[in-house]
Amino acid sequence: MANITLPLDIDSLKILSQDIDEKGNIVLTVESKCQQTHCHKCGKSATKRHGYGETMKVRHTSILDTPVILKIKPVRYLCEHCGDGPTTLEKFDWVAKGGKITKGLETYIQRSLINSTIQDVSRKEGVSYSTISTMLSHSIGVTVNWDNLRDLHTIGIDEISNRKGFQDFVAIVSAKDTQGNLSILAVLDDRKKETVLDFFQSIPDELKQTVKHVCTDMYDGFINAAVEVFGQKKVVVDRYDVAKLYRQPLDDLRIKEMKRLKLELSAADYAELKGMMWILRKQHECLTETEKSKLTLLYRHSPLLKKAHRQALTLTHIFNTHSDRKSAIAKIDRWITQVEKSELSCFDRFIGTLTKYKSSIANYFKNRKNSGFVEGLNNKIKVVKRRCYGFTKAESLFQRLTLDLQGYRMLGI
Ligand SMILES: [Zn+2]
Repeated sequence: MANITLPLDIDSLKILSQDIDEKGNIVLTVESKCQQTHCHKCGKSATKRHGYGETMKVRHTSILDTPVILKIKPVRYLCEHCGDGPTTLEKFDWVAKGGKITKGLETYIQRSLINSTIQDVSRKEGVSYSTISTMLSHSIGVTVNWDNLRDLHTIGIDEISNRKGFQDFVAIVSAKDTQGNLSILAVLDDRKKETVLDFFQSIPDELKQTVKHVCTDMYDGFINAAVEVFGQKKVVVDRYDVAKLYRQPLDDLRIKEMKRLKLELSAADYAELKGMMWILRKQHECLTETEKSKLTLLYRHSPLLKKAHRQALTLTHIFNTHSDRKSAIAKIDRWITQVEKSELSCFDRFIGTLTKYKSSIANYFKNRKNSGFVEGLNNKIKVVKRRCYGFTKAESLFQRLTLDLQGYRMLGI
């Protein structure tokens, strides 16, 4: 087989010799073309050679699937500016922090880590778990680097349960900038108002001013913290979170009514009502003819469920219709009055919540800012969690999400 000669992709190095070690790795003995270093004491240029430091072995990107190790003896330089003649070892700008791998390999590993796990990449590349994990903490960090963000535009805040970790819930704060780029701002240890407030306040003023909307779940701690820092007008409660809250009592009522009907109807009549859960949850206009006739049948058997379902549909319709904020509030108020006048009691609790957060809920109508992107993010988090078998530290989740969401952008691919 003909030998292939590849030039090294690190310009400052000269290859002295190449070998294959006992493990089959390609070992390139190299030296630096640099003739000086900066004195660690005075910072001036030190050019007088004064022996060598310990030989370093640095893993580099593989060639034809064979690991490459760069072997180098760093030169020690003596400073002629400082009176006591201190010596300084030459520094290599091509070595990643931690000293075990090159920056080239670091970029390669970062790319491999996107949507994968440390364990997986460690095994595939034959680089130790700790080297990769050290690399990850150096290159990504455990908190957001505000310098990397130009504007925040829309902030999303959401909670996820973390049963394998120490606390039950963590709060994920994310942002979508004017260009549509998604970034993770924080994974907070808990979802208390003070924690969220502290974080919002820690956003540099310049960036804080770029925030146009804060999308949140209907959760006291989140809403109050957001209102305090960004003002009532910018806080938008996720309409899908609102929908969850009025679908739940409808579901509960359906279960209760189906139990009643099971006792009262003949087995054959009851069987005709199978699959009602999905029919009730579907958008009315999406129902097939068969489903519509099933629904009519259910309505006939349970007038109460009919009323509740119709009211839920009315509310969904309000959210689906373009209105200005003021008329949307009027419509919601009319809906509340209607329900309160009816015999329905299943929405009582929901109406309490709706009234309490009406202002933030109605902000949705100002520019129909739903937090769809927060929902998308949640799906991403679920995948990360499944892949990582739960996570114990908020910091690790922050790094993982940052890499998965911003990795390609960070690496310029
Ligand atoms: Zn010096």
